[in-house]
Amino acid sequence: MKEPTLGNPQNTIAVLQKYQFRFQKKFGQNFLIDTRVLDKIIRAADITKEDMVLEIGPGIGTMTQYLACSAGKVVAVEIDRNLIPVLEDTLSGYENVRIINDDVLKVDIAGLVREDNGGRPIKVVANLPYYITTPIIMGLFESHVPLRSVTVMVQKEVAERMQAEPGKKDYGALSLAVQYYARPYVAANVPPNCFMPRPKVGSAVIRLERHETPPVRVADEGLLFRVIRASFGQRRKTLANGLKNSPELDFSKAEVESAIDALGKGASVRGETLTLEEFAMLANRLAEMKKIV
Ligand code: SAM
Repeated sequence: MKEPTLGNPQNTIAVLQKYQFRFQKKFGQNFLIDTRVLDKIIRAADITKEDMVLEIGPGIGTMTQYLACSAGKVVAVEIDRNLIPVLEDTLSGYENVRIINDDVLKVDIAGLVREDNGGRPIKVVANLPYYITTPIIMGLFESHVPLRSVTVMVQKEVAERMQAEPGKKDYGALSLAVQYYARPYVAANVPPNCFMPRPKVGSAVIRLERHETPPVRVADEGLLFRVIRASFGQRRKTLANGLKNSPELDFSKAEVESAIDALGKGASVRGETLTLEEFAMLANRLAEMKKIV
């Protein structure tokens, strides 16, 4: 396997010039130009030759070269067709890489895991396009694709929301959704000068290790997430008002009040103080009521 050639500003500029590449803002293109950050991502992702890695948005193939050296197989999905000839060039000689030119949100990833990895769980590694971080991560978890971990570069503020705990300012629906499926761990903070062009915000590498079974048991997963969304929909309202006013839920005032009462935290409790376990209790209690009716 060839040693990676990319990951520093000079070689990145040389590739961009050779192909007269124009960055497309709409695709969230900020390419990594720091080998120390690349090493950190590879270490955090804990990849072995047994692993198939799905890379989302390979760009000019910088991280792909590193991944190819550590993994058994890499499948890289890139939306920008102008990058395909670049990738064919920078990844020639890396025999274990397959490039797919498509929008990752439209790719049948479960099918890919079946075909390319015999259905065994994969690892996802990416410097994500920031405009679709949440749909990509939640899409992977919610579609129950066989996954071991997701190690991704995201906006620092998004990483903080993912690992926030109850009562903290960043705690919200994203924290609960991520923590229902996975254990988050921030592996590195990454400043804007590690990218070309520089993003306006700081970034962080977060590893999400998928739980084998969710940490709470719920009768209706969909209802749990509707309850969570309703609770954070109107930040300054009480939990009771959030649940009563949500267009996604259909419970009477008495039902909402009785379910909240069972938590033992008072009638004016706010959603942002509830743990995942308490949200699960609340959702199970509400599910029970609908069963009785
Ligand atoms: N991995 C490269 C690196 O670290 O240098 C590039 C990372 S850049 C932040 C995001 C990449 O995702 C870009 O190459 C962009 O074209 C690609 N991308 C954006 N939206 C995408 C989508 N919906 N599906 C697949 N790739 C996408």
